[in-house]
Amino acid sequence: MTEIKFAQLTDHFYWLAPGPPDRPTLGAVVGERATLLLDAGASTAHARLFLDQLKSANVPLPQYVALTHWHWDHVFGAEALGVPLIAHALTAKQLALLATYKWDDAALDARVASGAESSFSAENIKLELPAPRSVRIVPPTFTFTDRLTLDLGGVTCTLQHVGGEHAADSVVAYIEPDRVLFLGDCLYPLIYGVPTWQYTRSSVLPLLDKVSAFGAQHYLEGHGAGLVSPAEFTRLMGQMRLVADLVAVHGADEAAILAAADRAGQPRDEDLLDFVHAFIAGFSK
Ligand SMILES: [Zn+2]
Repeated sequence: MTEIKFAQLTDHFYWLAPGPPDRPTLGAVVGERATLLLDAGASTAHARLFLDQLKSANVPLPQYVALTHWHWDHVFGAEALGVPLIAHALTAKQLALLATYKWDDAALDARVASGAESSFSAENIKLELPAPRSVRIVPPTFTFTDRLTLDLGGVTCTLQHVGGEHAADSVVAYIEPDRVLFLGDCLYPLIYGVPTWQYTRSSVLPLLDKVSAFGAQHYLEGHGAGLVSPAEFTRLMGQMRLVADLVAVHGADEAAILAAADRAGQPRDEDLLDFVHAFIAGFSK
């Protein structure tokens, strides 16, 4: 049994930590008038786990759920929530497509073969929802295109479309006055339709500008271990920018990129190596 990590992180924000097989972070923004969930979870079991944790913490049950993007692990749980879904118009379009899919093993395998599903996703869907599985995709009740602010009573949550490499519909949620930026998966690489996870400089740099512009005090990534401080976030984003620039200069020459990163004083940690490999994979595009 995996330990369940649930906590109140700031005055108005509660969090269920990511868990196996590939469950993302779920959030709850709790105001005087309403509770808004951020992302619906990887399955009805995942969504119910979050509801149970909120109930034990005496948090008022949610009235709405907003989605950060269309990927299965963020949306499959919506069925269990029974509240109106808020999503970007592009997310709604993707959900309409998902609603036409079959989700048995054979259908998943066929979509992996055609590039419509990543093998990483298919493997994790099989683990999260053992066969025979049934999936009901809930269509959004409210859609928006650029930005939507919800006033929940003493706390607001602004949903802002940022797009990017991971999913074109990516939305971040900014909670004020807590200054929490709920990032979903927007900063992760592209995983669909490509053999190796990849970043391209032209898509990553504008995204970093958009995300940094909030001036948040706490950052939370979709599959990250917890709140990230501005100092740590700035360090990571700086590393990403540096690698993007070095790959633009040195192309796929990993040794030259690493040597230049050494000269720039960057430790060769796991993050750096992941960035290097993903930007190299995206370089030849
Ligand atoms: Zn995703």
